[in-house]
Amino acid sequence: MRHVAVIGSGPAGYYCAEALQKNFGDGVRVDMIDRMPVPYGLIRFGVAPDHQSIKAVAKRYEKVALSENVRFVGNVLVGRDVSIPELLELYDAVILATGAPDDRTLEIPGGDLPGVVGSAAFVGWYNGHPEFADLDPPLDVEAAAVIGNGNVALDVARILSKTPAEFAGSDIVAHAFSKLGNSAIRRIDVLGRRGPHQIAMTPKELGELGHLEEAVPIVDLADFPPALDDALLEPGQRKSVTHLRDFAGLAADKPKRIVFDFFAKPVAVEGEGKVERLIVERTRLDERGAAVGTGETYEIPCGLVVTCIGYKTPPIPGVAYEEDRGRFANADGVIGGGLYCVGWARRGPTGTIGTNRPDGYEVAERIAADVGQGGGRKEGRPGLDRLLESRGVEIVTFRDWQRIEAAEAARAREGSPREKFVAIAEMLGARGG
Ligand code: NAP
Repeated sequence: MRHVAVIGSGPAGYYCAEALQKNFGDGVRVDMIDRMPVPYGLIRFGVAPDHQSIKAVAKRYEKVALSENVRFVGNVLVGRDVSIPELLELYDAVILATGAPDDRTLEIPGGDLPGVVGSAAFVGWYNGHPEFADLDPPLDVEAAAVIGNGNVALDVARILSKTPAEFAGSDIVAHAFSKLGNSAIRRIDVLGRRGPHQIAMTPKELGELGHLEEAVPIVDLADFPPALDDALLEPGQRKSVTHLRDFAGLAADKPKRIVFDFFAKPVAVEGEGKVERLIVERTRLDERGAAVGTGETYEIPCGLVVTCIGYKTPPIPGVAYEEDRGRFANADGVIGGGLYCVGWARRGPTGTIGTNRPDGYEVAERIAADVGQGGGRKEGRPGLDRLLESRGVEIVTFRDWQRIEAAEAARAREGSPREKFVAIAEMLGARGG
């Protein structure tokens, strides 16, 4: 029997566990360790609450979780409750599937003023992440600036624009639902430091902005290259740019505006003890396609700034890390000495949920080749259980999670799939007996 520990139960972790099952059949036992008492990582805490069809992929992960040779070990923090060297002692392979839950910070003057929030915090707030439940972003202001031109910026702009009725069927948590329902925000500037051809927004997600009840996207066609140049883009990007161009034809007759501001690089945040304005420098593209400042600046009055400029994997002491890319140093998922990484911890925060599947399969195959089939000297589960018990760590099992899940469904708003528990203690309390 081979024993594998996967740290993190988000998409990367589950695809990898699925692939391990395929490679080893019944010859493997996988322990999936998560610091949260609930599984699914990004699916629960990252994917937007009004994108339930994307969240449905959790059903596939549930199948893996319910099989004999995979076990969910929730409420265990690696680094506090058990160390990497201890896990390497117990398992044939240890896979870091820890995602990229930390914000890259915008290093500009005033970037730490109250009212500047990172997307991990903001998304975590509306998705009920225990660490961000108390974020309390200022929504009693008239204008917000969203920095970045990726899909997360789109999520944030959309969530800030929606009416309560548009959250029907979503699982947005009660505290965010109620606060967003009373929001005074009427203008949202979405800033890209480069141009329309350089956006990192996918067509379906961008298209949604054209169909909001109370908000209309605004673009200035003067920012665009000649329409003929769109033919040079790859098909997906061309579709996104076509959506942007089409926004120019929409009547701006709704009370909220989502204004795309291209070639706009934030250089400072200013205000008396809180955000009052963003100072922006106009840019142009150099011959390599990078944004360079023109020296021309202007200000955007706003009371909230959400930075959506990417994420990073939290480093783990003793594990080699690439600071600039925000991920573990690895060669095709191999860190070395029995340690591997998958998903965003391996590649950095890029790609869709589906990108993690081939990624997980590749690493599982690599592990199969490295450790081989058959029996080894590693103890696996009983060793981990003994260690955690001796430290008084209370494990949450998948059965426990199913009870938490049922309790969340039972207390859902009408039409909503669940009302998430937000505090860890509430999650633990909902396990029942
Ligand atoms: P992203 O796609 O990498 O976009 C980051 C954006 O931030 C880029 O526009 C980038 O501009 C900009 N940026 C970076 N540093 C900056 C700085 N210092 N100042 C100003 N702008 C800066 O990242 P993301 O939006 O966080 O998304 C992460 C991943 O999750 C992506 O693969 C995304 O597609 C995926 N995702 C998918 C969905 C969905 O499918 N529904 C939803 C959310 C997220 P440059 O291009 O100039 O660097």
